[in-house]
Amino acid sequence: MELTRQQQYKKMFPDQPVWRWEQIERAFFNPQITNWLDITTISADLRASLTQNLPWLTVTPDKLFTSRDQQTYKALLALIDGEKIETVLMKNKRGQWSVCVSSQVGCAMNCSFCATGRMGLRRNLTSDEIADQLRYWFYFLRDKKITERVSNIVMMGMGEPLANYDNVVTALWQWLHHTDIGANHITVSTVGLMPFLKKILEDKDWPPVRLAISLHSANETLRKKIVPSTGANFLAELAAWVKEYLKIKGSNKRHITFEYILLRGVNDSARDAKTLADFVMKTGRIKVNLIPFNDINDARLERSPGADEFAKILTSCGVTTTVRQSAGADIMAACGQLAGDDRN
Ligand code: SAH
Repeated sequence: MELTRQQQYKKMFPDQPVWRWEQIERAFFNPQITNWLDITTISADLRASLTQNLPWLTVTPDKLFTSRDQQTYKALLALIDGEKIETVLMKNKRGQWSVCVSSQVGCAMNCSFCATGRMGLRRNLTSDEIADQLRYWFYFLRDKKITERVSNIVMMGMGEPLANYDNVVTALWQWLHHTDIGANHITVSTVGLMPFLKKILEDKDWPPVRLAISLHSANETLRKKIVPSTGANFLAELAAWVKEYLKIKGSNKRHITFEYILLRGVNDSARDAKTLADFVMKTGRIKVNLIPFNDINDARLERSPGADEFAKILTSCGVTTTVRQSAGADIMAACGQLAGDDRN
């Protein structure tokens, strides 16, 4: 397995104190510092040696796409081995920026409506490659002299974060330790891999970030069809897990969201809405985020025209419901459209 920058550093300089690396890592997230030589808090010798041996940034911009309204940017980033991933920067409701990061090259989950799934899984990203996507956008904003800060991070790009658990946790802690973005402003979105959800309950190192679970159907048979990674007895296990999570980790701030993509004629009927509302009310304090389907060039799949009606039913059943604003569809940067290629 490839060593992280920190592991390589430790190998090169086994006698350096721990806080030295902390100092270096802090510099990574200061956009005014653009290479090893700029880290003036460390010796010139150390800087020179790091310049020779360690990559300053593990992602290199390959292509940049700008939406017509200039509110969304998508970058195709090349990794050191030539693989490519996508990351997105978008203006949010507060007038600040949200960054959407990838956790894997491709994805093994193969959800029927997602472009990334069609690539299959190529490999996990390292913790550096995950963390550096944020750094890429920090430098981007600085270069463009844009002053609004990045206030939110969503791990909703390519890949299934919990299938790359350790590297995701390491990257999350880098952000939490070295940026002003708080845990309540970071959301990890997962398809709901049960063994890893259970691990979170026991893991003292799991950071206090928010979780979004891609539910997409509260009917077991239908969910299995559109989300093939659905394990046996998924809904019952999820309901039990949510109760446990809220008991152990829950607070108003660390709530869970269920994501629900609305596909015409698949999961968007009034009956689907009621089934979902029943499940949510039975499960606990779960907000539902309805996601308009974004086109992925598959004639069998269409956006549901009934999002408002669907939301109304949920709300009337007592479920807190929001409908996601889709951004960047004109540059294929919207949810589910990230595929690591350069079609546009
Ligand atoms: N693997 C993770 C994170 C990546 S997807 C997960 O499944 O949650 C982030 C969100 O975008 C998920 O809720 C996913 O279901 C949704 N999504 C995927 N394809 C989409 C599409 N074509 N249109 C809209 N949303 C999509």
